[in-house]
This record gives sequence, C-alpha cells and structure tokens, in this order.
Amino acid sequence: RGDSADFDREVKSVCPFCGVGCQVSMKVKGDRIVNVEGINGPANEGRLCVKGRFGFDYIHHPHRLTKPMIRRKDAPEKGLNVDPANPWTHFREATWDEALDAAAHGLQDLRSYYGGTSVAGFGSAKCTNEEAYLFQKFIRQGFGHNNVDHCTRLCHASSVAALMENVGSGAVTATFNEIENADVAIVIGANPTENHPVAATYFKQFAKRGGKLIVMDPRAQALRRHAAHMLQFRPGTDVALLNAIMNVIVEEKLYDRQYIEGFTEGFFEFRDHIRAFTPDRMSELCGIDEDTIRTVARTFARAERAMIFWGMGVSQHIHGTDNARCLISLALLCGHIGRPGTGLHPLRGQNNVQGASDAGLIPQVLPDYQSVTDPEVRALFKHIWRGTEIQATPGLTVVEIMDRVYRGEIKGMYILGENPAMSDPDVDHARKALAQLDHLVVQDIFLTETANYADVILPASAFAEKTGTVTNTNRQVQVARQAVPPPGEAREDWEILVDLARRIGLDWDYDDPREVFDEMKMSMRSLHHITWKRLEEQNAVTYPTSGPNDPGAAVVFGDGFPRRAGRAKFTPARVTPPAELPDERFPMILTTGRQLEHWHTGSMTRRASVLDAVEPEANCSLHPSTLRKLGVEPGGKVRLTTRRGSVEVMARADRAVAPDMVFLPFAYVEAAANILTNPALDPFGKIPEFKYSAVRVEKVEGA
Ligand code: SF4
Repeated sequence: RGDSADFDREVKSVCPFCGVGCQVSMKVKGDRIVNVEGINGPANEGRLCVKGRFGFDYIHHPHRLTKPMIRRKDAPEKGLNVDPANPWTHFREATWDEALDAAAHGLQDLRSYYGGTSVAGFGSAKCTNEEAYLFQKFIRQGFGHNNVDHCTRLCHASSVAALMENVGSGAVTATFNEIENADVAIVIGANPTENHPVAATYFKQFAKRGGKLIVMDPRAQALRRHAAHMLQFRPGTDVALLNAIMNVIVEEKLYDRQYIEGFTEGFFEFRDHIRAFTPDRMSELCGIDEDTIRTVARTFARAERAMIFWGMGVSQHIHGTDNARCLISLALLCGHIGRPGTGLHPLRGQNNVQGASDAGLIPQVLPDYQSVTDPEVRALFKHIWRGTEIQATPGLTVVEIMDRVYRGEIKGMYILGENPAMSDPDVDHARKALAQLDHLVVQDIFLTETANYADVILPASAFAEKTGTVTNTNRQVQVARQAVPPPGEAREDWEILVDLARRIGLDWDYDDPREVFDEMKMSMRSLHHITWKRLEEQNAVTYPTSGPNDPGAAVVFGDGFPRRAGRAKFTPARVTPPAELPDERFPMILTTGRQLEHWHTGSMTRRASVLDAVEPEANCSLHPSTLRKLGVEPGGKVRLTTRRGSVEVMARADRAVAPDMVFLPFAYVEAAANILTNPALDPFGKIPEFKYSAVRVEKVEGA
C-alpha cells in the first residue's frame, strides 16, 4: 500500500465512507495518494477500519471519468449496457461548455414546456455540506419546487421523522464516544463491527471495562461476543419486543417519574397503551423468552446512565418510524437523555448524510430542518436567496420521484453522486424509469449504473480532490481537504453546480466553497459560532457550540427539548406486520445490508484493489442447516427469487443468520440485491422495507 516514508506531502482530511467520520492523513507523492493513516480526530482518536486505511486507491482507478460526455445520437437504446472501459458506442467526449450547455438546455426546455415539476434532483451524502446546500438550492430556486432528496431517504428517514416528531431535532442527542460514560448500552438493528467499525471499537472497550452491552438484532453478529445479552428476535417484530420491554418498566414502576413529569408529555396515554404488550403475549411473536425481556427491561431502567444506538435494521421497515418512536419512548421513560453517558444515537450511514440532511437536501425541509410549510421560514430564505419564492408544499421523496418518472410525470433529472439504478428498491422498476427520462444529467466520478442511462455526464471529484466541510454522525463538523487535483478535466462538484446554475438563469456568484458556507450560516443556527477559519484551526467542532472556545456539546437536551414547552413526547406504537409475509411460494425472509469491505452500491470499493481482493464476489449468507436442506455446499450457487425478480449468487454458511433467513449485501451489480427488495414505504419517513421481503431460495443445478 505504498511506503509511508516515500511521500512529498501530507494532507489532513476525513474518511469518505461511513458516518463515523474518522480523520485521516493522506500521504501524497506527485498527484497520487500513496498511503492513508488515522489521526487524532474526535471520533476516531487515530483509529481506522479497513476501508479507511486501504480503500482509497479507487480515486486513481482507470475507470475514472475524466472528460464530459454526451449521449451519441446513434447510441443503442438506454439500458444497463455500457462498458465503463469503452463507453464510446453510447457516448462521445464533449468540452465542458458543450456538456454544460447540453445539460442546462435539456433541463430548461423541460421547465419551459412542461413546468418546473417535470424536473427533479437527487443530491449526494458523499458531497460536502456546501455542495449539498447548493444542490437543494439549485432545484428549489431553479425549478420552483421541493422535489429534491438524497439517500437519507433510504437509510434513516424514519429515524429522523420520529426524532423530529418526539424530540424536536433530527440529530443524535449524544456522540457515540459518550458510551465511555455509560453503564448500559443497547445496540439494536445495527452491526457496527461491519458498518461503523471504529465506533464498534468504543463499544467493545465499554464492554471490557464492565459496561453492559445489550445487542438486539435478527442476525447474530460479532458484537454479541462482548454482549451481556444477545436478543436475536424475529425479523420485523421490533415494536413487539420494545413494547414488551417498556411494559415491564411501566408495570414494575421502574420509570423515572421525576424526569417524565419535568421533561415529557403524553405519558399517561402511553402508559395505558403499553399495558397490552405484556411479555407473555409478545414473547412468542418476537421469539424472545419472557425472562430475557424482563431482565433486559430491568437492566436498562435501573442503570444510572444508559444509551441506545440503532441502525438500518430499525429504520428500513414500513414500521421504521414506529420502531424509532419506541426507542425514544424507552429512553424518555427512564430519563436516559441529556446527561453524560445517556442518549439516543441513530448511527448514520454515509460519511456526510448528517451534513447533507442539515443542509436541506430533503424535500420537506430547508437547511436546519426548517419546514417549507412555515411562512416565516420561507420569508427568511426568500430574503437570503434574493427574492426566490419557496414552494410551500413539501416535495416528493426518492421512491416517489422514481414512481413519477416511471409514470412519465417527471421527465428530467439531475443526479449528483447517487446511484438509484442500484440503490432503489425493486430496482428494475427504477431502471425502466431512468430509461424513459427525456433528459438525465449525471454528475459522478465513475460511469455508474445510473450514468448508463444519462444524456449528459459531468465528471466530478472524489473526496481527496476537493475541500469542504462534512458532518459526521456525532454532529461534528470537520474539514475535508483537497490532497490531489481531480483527474483529467474532472472538476469539483460545487464548481460544476455553479456553472450549471448560471446556465439555467440563476444569479449565482460564488467563487469559493467558503462563500457558500457563509451563506449557510445566515439560516442555520446549528452553525452559530462555527467559522471556516475555526474549522481549519481546530479540525472539528461539534454543534451546537456556545462560543468560539467551546468545542461543542457532546450531549444535548439536558435542560429541555426544542419542542413546545421544552418537552419531548411519547408516541405509542402498534405492531404492524411487514408488507409481505412468507408463504408457500416465497417461504423465507430476505434481508439486505452492507458488509465490512464494500460500500453501498460498490462503485468505489469494488474499484479499491485491497477491498476488492478481500471480497471479490457477490455472496449471500445462509444458515448451515438451510444449506444442507437445499443440498448446497458452502461456495455453491443459489437462486433467490422474490415477487420482483431473481438473482443467482454464491452462498456462504453463516450461523449468524436464522434458518429461515437469507442475508444479501447490496454492493454487487451482478447479483443486485435491490432487484429483489420490496418498495413498500413507511408512511411517515417514506423509507422502503429493505430489511424484509418474502423470498424463495433454490439450488442452482450444475453451478
Ligand atoms: Fe472510514 Fe467509517 Fe472505517 Fe472510520 S469507521 S475508517 S469513517 S469507514
């Protein structure tokens, strides 16, 4: 991986993968990064996982887009049919002027002919805060509506919906590092050793020093070896399990009466609701024995300080918002918010999904979660955006936008750094929709599956090729710095956005991301006392911060919540079954997710040589007893079929998966997990049910 002594310069930045936000030092020789090491950032204290340490060389991959491209007039029909090494039967090279003109004219024509709502945008949680801010402004100002979203919709939209509703803020109430002050910690629906590996090291240390770790997940996982309790509950029964735990706390009067009286509302209705969810009634449903439910309830409630961490196992359900409501109620019941070693922490997925959400890359809210329905908020942005009228109707979300594209109601899209041709549920539907677009502009670093459908491709910059701010799962705003220039004619994303905005008639005059950051500060209270200069000097500031010398609050809401009368709310949750249940044709349960070495749709990590060497082939995990029943040896091929489609994939034996389940990572285009997934949405967060589909698993004969 390069000789760390053999470099010209060293540049500090932030890892581009998960929401932990590890700070890194990139060792650079010429225009190449030769080595990456962890440095002493607030979230990682020098640590890195395999992706941060060895996953950087994708930025020098020969598939990088280095010139703008325009679809050829005689190109074959749009489809997933472009060879990234030889795209010339589909695309031709273009100059930047030509490509930007083509991109802008296509969008403008649609706006003039069909109206602004004929165009929608997907921005990216891989871009900087400034780029996310510019992207949502581009759609809102340029097309007069709020149909702009990004991958937060596919990861924690339901968590944010529940947090906004009941706590008044969509961000974590405590950093994950606060676990060092806790006595008890619940980790539910998350697999941190694979997905947030550096955070997992803090969880393990917590357990080593005697902290009680309670892991709850339908899949067993490595963290269970450090856990006092591992509750491997049946998929989709989160509400039943959590309500049963809270039933014990209520019936045994283990709740914190003083906290409830002082800081919450809705307790009495909640108490009456929860009485029906007795452990004996819920035990069979969730597959956890009554004694364990009672023990876990008592352990959590009696702890002096306890935290709750969760991931997409909680959020990616049609009842994802209800799941998160339960976790919030559990913390409120026991007063485990607002003190050191207590709090709620949805572990954010992408490196800048927190920052992109804060910056308003969401259809319902403007920057800092200020609702588009609030006239005062709209007036503020009208002032800052020089007279732009903000549409008062919340916009469409990711899956809703793709549905409108499919129905021909949305005819043009601008997609920056997202890959819906891999990441959307029921992805064949999304691919057909993309193929129908009259005009698709894709801005990315590789010819992704989505770029296969583009009319204009704008070559953009990877994390190490630009400077900007990013915000991690801990609310820590950090500076990502440019270490090398973008390859060939590729450009920084903010520059491309500004040029395109000018071409569609917007009076944008930014010359530097710092100017964008300063504009963001005009509307974002979260950035009070945070300046670019301060970030450059201090490398990270946690928001909220009370002044230039305050490093920021690791724990918030000790003195009340940003809601009416400063009170958080109990919202009762009912048990809702998954959108489709196993039956004779599809007797097993499919769940999807990431694995340690690969990142999301694989466009980066499958081009990172070390990571690809470790995990080169699409694979799924099945219990050994299931493999025996199917007559499949580990390493053999199986066919997975749902109501949406079918994929063939290599099978691994894995005791962590229950015998009636199959786990399929979604990074592999050759066995794209989302061909199989169910697009049914949570009604509040509008997040798809990636974690539960009815599936049939068969041996592939002769493979
Ligand atoms: Fe990067 Fe996350 Fe690994 Fe840290 S834990 S090195 S941020 S992928």
